[in-house]
Amino acid sequence: MAGPGEFELIREYFASHFQAGAQPAGQPVARGNTAHNSVALGIGDDCALLIPPAGKLLATSVDTLVADVHFPAAADPYQIASRSLRVNLSDLAAMNAEPLWFTLALTLPESNADWLEPFARGLAETAQRFGITLVGGDTTRGPLSITIQVTGTCERPLRRDGAASGDHIFVSNKLGAAAAGLPIVLGDLEASAEQRQQAEDAFYFPEPQFSVARAIGPYASAALDISDGLLADLGHICRASKLGAQLDLDEFPVAELASSMDTETALETALTGGDDYQLCFTVPDEHLSAVQRLKLPISIVGRMRSEPGVHCQLHGQAWQPRTTGYRHF
Ligand code: ADP
Ligand code: MG
Repeated sequence: MAGPGEFELIREYFASHFQAGAQPAGQPVARGNTAHNSVALGIGDDCALLIPPAGKLLATSVDTLVADVHFPAAADPYQIASRSLRVNLSDLAAMNAEPLWFTLALTLPESNADWLEPFARGLAETAQRFGITLVGGDTTRGPLSITIQVTGTCERPLRRDGAASGDHIFVSNKLGAAAAGLPIVLGDLEASAEQRQQAEDAFYFPEPQFSVARAIGPYASAALDISDGLLADLGHICRASKLGAQLDLDEFPVAELASSMDTETALETALTGGDDYQLCFTVPDEHLSAVQRLKLPISIVGRMRSEPGVHCQLHGQAWQPRTTGYRHF
């Protein structure tokens, strides 16, 4: 059994990696980065003390990743940390928020330095890259599970309920890589070294779409990140905006890992597979040319309409996938 001493040790791992321990009262940590300048007191006391930017909204979100549900328990702890923080950052990106702080509630079966060291390093490197800092958390014993709460500032929120009939539907980059790669990540499918790399990148290093969100912020009417598959997630925009959607799949942006499958399976994977963390957003017709001039890695995939439900069309014919929602492994 891990005694309280062991959990103190665990806390130390995070405190040392983030070096945001006890500061003199009222003295923000002196670092070049907004996140660090907004921390009056970091890890180590009963609460963190944070300095919210004056006059801005705070955006906050929390997600739990459970071993063998959201990632394989035996995965590299560095990669688990990366995925855990990135999927949370994706929610900030999808709201068009800028990262500031996060907290970590960690449940561990045992206190094991060989696991904790790479986990803390993965967390610290990912946090550094996205300008977010760890300000506190909780550590308990139990089956491996990671809960991260992220907070950021938000000036121009991209909500789900702002779409109007006739708005163009866009997605960022390509879809289907994470779902097509999952059997490779799980070791259930043989793959080349290059395919394995693509599969692991998609699953453990999804890219929160901050730059796309910032660029479309002034023009988009609604947005969300695609965690459960486009059809399911676009359904959320439809319900929130009290509308439906028509997708045209003829030139759908299918990720390379999925594109070796036959067309139907590739499309199904891209539309119903989860874990891509790309953005889906809607743009009113009057802003269409402004958005296209941005030269972003985005594609138009359809249009919002008043008839409810998400309907797909392929080569001029109605098309439906055999499955709709994403099922976690
Ligand atoms: P308390 O008993 O007052 O809740 P804890 O022992 O839970 O205190 O935590 C002490 C300090 O360590 C707090 O500042 C808390 O935020 C931090 N902490 C505990 N676990 C973690 C963790 N997994 N990651 C980051 N900070 C942590
Ligand atoms: Mg506590």
